[in-house]
Amino acid sequence: MQFFVQRSELRDLYDKVAAGQRVSEADALRLFESKDLNAVGAIADLARQRKVGRRASYIINRYVNYSNYCILSCQFCSFARKKRDADGFQLTVEEIVQKAREALSLGVTELHIVGGLHPSLPFSYYTDMLKALRAVDARLQLKCFTAVEVLHLAWLAKKTVAETLGALKEAGLDSLTGGGAEIFRKEVRSAIARGKESAEEYLDVHRTWHRLGGRSTCTMLYGHVESLADRVDHLRQLRSLQDETRGFVGFVPLPYQPENNDIPVQNPPTGFDTLRTVAVSRIYLDNFDHLTAYWVGMGLKLAQVALSYGADDLHGTIIEEHIFHMAGAKSPQLQTEAEMVKAIREAGCTPVQRNTFYEPIKVWEAPAPAGAEPNDKRSNVLENNLATA
Ligand code: SF4
Repeated sequence: MQFFVQRSELRDLYDKVAAGQRVSEADALRLFESKDLNAVGAIADLARQRKVGRRASYIINRYVNYSNYCILSCQFCSFARKKRDADGFQLTVEEIVQKAREALSLGVTELHIVGGLHPSLPFSYYTDMLKALRAVDARLQLKCFTAVEVLHLAWLAKKTVAETLGALKEAGLDSLTGGGAEIFRKEVRSAIARGKESAEEYLDVHRTWHRLGGRSTCTMLYGHVESLADRVDHLRQLRSLQDETRGFVGFVPLPYQPENNDIPVQNPPTGFDTLRTVAVSRIYLDNFDHLTAYWVGMGLKLAQVALSYGADDLHGTIIEEHIFHMAGAKSPQLQTEAEMVKAIREAGCTPVQRNTFYEPIKVWEAPAPAGAEPNDKRSNVLENNLATA
């Protein structure tokens, strides 16, 4: 890859990263504005290899949305519904437990649970849900709630954010999700997610969780009305909090999906934009170990290519995704473990099944031992979800 930067205008930034120096916000903007994608990718690949070598991970997980009812109406959101809407839903704790049992039978190690800001469910619904899931299998990792959900729950429970997170942790919460960061700059936030928590509130929820000993991921929703400078500003704030707490285990850039919402974006993220965003994020976020190429948003084929542009993770099997698909994502509802292992191997990386905290569960050295190939079965549960998707 060094070949790509030898005569590039970005050679000085390659040398900077090679020397272990941190790139500045001005450097990050230069990288974003460059049309030399191969050179940006080469720098990102260098940064990635220094962190994790040629390993690339995935997780066997299942998404659960407990409800899509929400008291807010973020302009970019295609997921939220009001009580009057025919396609609104909410699950009982028993229904969520049933989904957990199905997931365990498929080898799932993580449940990823988020929903809208429900208008009437009590705080006890959330703690009961966590306790019931914890009772199903103590090894099942529970990655739940975005920052704005935590603020909503704190308001419901009449507790501080720290007290709320403490109560959720005691009930079984393992990790916060990174959703809801969108773009931090106030003007952009007002244009796409009016009424949602501020950047400071998002960061403070994660800071508080990290201080309680918790770990989380973080995100950036790109490719709508923001500028490249807004993206750099967003990454700056994440890097700064990570310097402070070291509590983020991974970063997940999310390409904007333009359908069924109130923001008519003419040019949603292209393949070029997605790869450069992954690459610049890897180069700038030098205090993050892991960067996920979210196949739901970019498709597995581009996510596979992103493994050579700084990403070292393909996210998970997921099984049942609603939020991106209601916004027009054309990717399938799930990936089997075998499909992800194959994609990683083809990209020249060693596949690693990971847990919620990006810690390795299984390393797939090639070739896999006879009888121990990754799971490629689309069980009845998976087929049912595909049929109803
Ligand atoms: S993005 Fe979240 S908070 Fe905003 S309307 Fe959708 S579900 Fe509600």
